Amino acid sequence: MQLGGNARFFAVVQNLSEVRDLCLRAKAKQLPIFVLGGGSNTVVHDEGFNGVILKNELTGFEVKNQGEFDTTIRVGAGEIWDNFVKRTVDMGLTGIEALSVIPGCVGGAPVQNVGAYGQEVSETIISVETYDTITDTLATFTNEECKFGYRESIFRSSELGRYVILAVTFKLYKTPPQPPFYKAVQDYLDERSITAYTPQQIRDAVIAIRTDKLPDPTIQPNAGSFFKNAIVDDWQLTELKKNYPDIPNYDMGDGSFKIPTGWLIEQTGVKGTVLHGIRVHDKNALVLINESAGTYANLAAARQEIITAVRAKFNISIEQEPLELK
Ligand code: NAP
Repeated sequence: MQLGGNARFFAVVQNLSEVRDLCLRAKAKQLPIFVLGGGSNTVVHDEGFNGVILKNELTGFEVKNQGEFDTTIRVGAGEIWDNFVKRTVDMGLTGIEALSVIPGCVGGAPVQNVGAYGQEVSETIISVETYDTITDTLATFTNEECKFGYRESIFRSSELGRYVILAVTFKLYKTPPQPPFYKAVQDYLDERSITAYTPQQIRDAVIAIRTDKLPDPTIQPNAGSFFKNAIVDDWQLTELKKNYPDIPNYDMGDGSFKIPTGWLIEQTGVKGTVLHGIRVHDKNALVLINESAGTYANLAAARQEIITAVRAKFNISIEQEPLELK
């Protein structure tokens, strides 16, 4: 968002011994540690961070197993996420092609269980290798132990800040991508009369859609989706439908329903407007762009106005998606 103050210390780490050394030194000085991947999904307060920012640049790409139908790959947490996606698509593998051009690094993907266009990274993760900053030991988490949820994992909830992710192991498939696809992707394929699907075609579709709909963070500072989609119980949806019969919703399969927060925000009338120097993106109200805000306080004020407007209209409390560094 190009907002917020400075960090007291900033360090780049490229291997485990550097991670360990930095963490032990920070601990000795009683300084908090924050692990940064690409930084595009992090919001920083104006007073900055009185601790150590650890920029994760651990690299590595290793094919661990070639099965008849799948391939298992271990990747360093500091690898650029989209370089990894491109490489697997070039190998003809399915599983993360719909997660193309998401900014950030491989290590950030399990933290918020990144998802887009019907794929969630948790569907392909076998394990997550970490360094435990409390016990000074290595800890590997199985998929189940990561407790993945909708844009959630233990790494951003119960264990936030404890583990430095070192590497992630994925299982990807040699079978072609299977429909149904999200409407925008299907429309792209239909327009080109594509009926035999390859990972490359899905990647091309997602790149085209995202490039059109999402502002480039290096040109227009933004953190992607600024809010999570709302999850409501079936009785809440029934209530909402009384006033808003056309409210878009998707069955989560567990008695709850996802309502696109972009739609909720749009209904409040702020889409395309500027609040405290923050523009609510005119093509996707879920995205906030820093147009002329100078401080985190401006962003917080804009955020509060949007949250309050959505609550007043729908009685739904929407939540921020990017992590907050304070
Ligand atoms: P969209 O196509 O306008 O749809 C609005 C929302 O409806 C999406 O957020 C999506 O939820 C949900 N949705 C649409 N079709 C669905 C289906 N067939 N089944 C289940 N849910 C469906 O959304 P958009 O804002 O342009 O985003 C498109 C995709 O890119 C979404 O998957 C979104 O999550 C992803 N994205 C992520 C970020 C980020 O920063 N994390 C930023 C931009 C876009 P889901 O979000 O659960 O998919």
